[in-house]
Amino acid sequence: MHLFPLNPDLQLTWLWKKKDTEVVVAVLPSQMKGRILLIRHCELCSLRPHQWLTGEVIEGVFHVAADKFGVVNKMYLLNHYTAGVILFGDRTQLTSHSLPKVNFDNYEAVLSFVLVNNNHWKLLYIHAKTSTVFLVDPAQSIKELDDSEHAAKRIQEYFKMRRTRHSITDWVDVKWKGGVMGHPLQKDGCSCGVVVVKMAKAVMESFPLIPNVNFECSKKYMKQERIELALEILEASVLDEHTYCAMCAALRPPGSGSPITNWIQCDDCERWYHAQCLAMDSRDFKKAETGYWKCPLCK
Ligand SMILES: [Zn+2]
Ligand SMILES: [Zn+2]
Repeated sequence: MHLFPLNPDLQLTWLWKKKDTEVVVAVLPSQMKGRILLIRHCELCSLRPHQWLTGEVIEGVFHVAADKFGVVNKMYLLNHYTAGVILFGDRTQLTSHSLPKVNFDNYEAVLSFVLVNNNHWKLLYIHAKTSTVFLVDPAQSIKELDDSEHAAKRIQEYFKMRRTRHSITDWVDVKWKGGVMGHPLQKDGCSCGVVVVKMAKAVMESFPLIPNVNFECSKKYMKQERIELALEILEASVLDEHTYCAMCAALRPPGSGSPITNWIQCDDCERWYHAQCLAMDSRDFKKAETGYWKCPLCK
């Protein structure tokens, strides 16, 4: 019997009721061919009402949306760690995020988001055609031009550093300036991630034009939006639960030198797991194999 609901709506209700686990619940194709993004259960759970969204969830939705809006080959989706280093990092950090293999001349824009004060997400949009950098704050708009101008300076320095280090000259001669775009403000303390995603989608939809973003930010709407985003992730997932391990999303356990891989299937949801990825010793494995075994999600 398959006890795990197959319908995405029911699946989501089921997943959100469970205590946070590290089980992979979605595998998303990324902009980079051959690369995937893993969304773990605890990350999907950050979309529950009043939770603060994790970077993985935001990044995942960016990649799904870029595909939907047909901007995958025009917009480079920059990882948010790298974006944070470019805007706020020191010299050493900067050089270790120099992306020598990326040729920005192949793109018309960069879209990303950054973490500020360890608890707040902002949208970063670099628009090459108008040489404009937008650092958009979901919580306020008074300081936005200053923030964007500071970001523009940092981005200029970043491309100069890439030239010095790797002799690459893409986007190095651009005189970047700061810009502002119209947008609504979040009405609660935890929905910055949701607003960032909504703004990113508006940017992709109107690309190459700069949008004047407007949408409802009420609590009721944010709650609904969180459900929509979670469903988008589950529906875009290419995870094959019958072939891959639900903990590492791979065929072979990471760093495994052992020739034998022990697999165990959950008797409730039918997901497969490497015994190794669950840190099961041989005794636990024997017991699980012979009896009725529930995975971390179903426990
Ligand atoms: Zn595994
Ligand atoms: Zn299970």
